[in-house]
Amino acid sequence: MSTRNLISKCPWCSYEHDRVSSLMGDHEPKEGDATMCIDCGRWCCFTADLALRKPDQVEAMWLASDSDCRELARLWRVSQNTPGLRRGK
Ligand SMILES: [Zn+2]
Repeated sequence: MSTRNLISKCPWCSYEHDRVSSLMGDHEPKEGDATMCIDCGRWCCFTADLALRKPDQVEAMWLASDSDCRELARLWRVSQNTPGLRRGK
């Protein structure tokens, strides 16, 4: 896992992220890569300039069917019900 500084804004909830982490080692984010908003738990995709946009219909279907993405979404939901891990809402 690697983390780098990257300012981005969630297109779903407008949360401003200050970094991005990859579960794929030293992978640098690139256009089309998916990422999950730590605040609302929804999937986003990177644009060419590494801003975030909502996934298109094909990307959303892929994200909903991929087992790793489903597991990450499940863990995010568990974190929201775990005292000490839940975001400040
Ligand atoms: Zn969000």
